[in-house]
Amino acid sequence: MHYCQRWEPAVTLDPSADVAVCARCGWTEPARREPLYVVTGASGSGKSAILAPLAATLAECVVFDVDWLIDPMTSGGSVAWAAFRDAWLSVAHGIA
Ligand SMILES: [Zn+2]
Repeated sequence: MHYCQRWEPAVTLDPSADVAVCARCGWTEPARREPLYVVTGASGSGKSAILAPLAATLAECVVFDVDWLIDPMTSGGSVAWAAFRDAWLSVAHGIA
């Protein structure tokens, strides 16, 4: 997510082509959109098993196993799924 820091609180920038634009002041900053590939499936279906082959095949991509954040995002036996999703999207955004 991109923000215009000229306002308090900061304003979320809107995507427009390859930039992000502040609706209040017109500030723009580069915000290229790259594809994000997500492998999904039921527990035990083999997502983690294909991690290494996928990483080897897609050398130009950054490959993660989302389970890496399960433990830190688990509290009292339940996963904070919305926070879990947001954390991974933030990681993907930072990598991009
Ligand atoms: Zn602005």
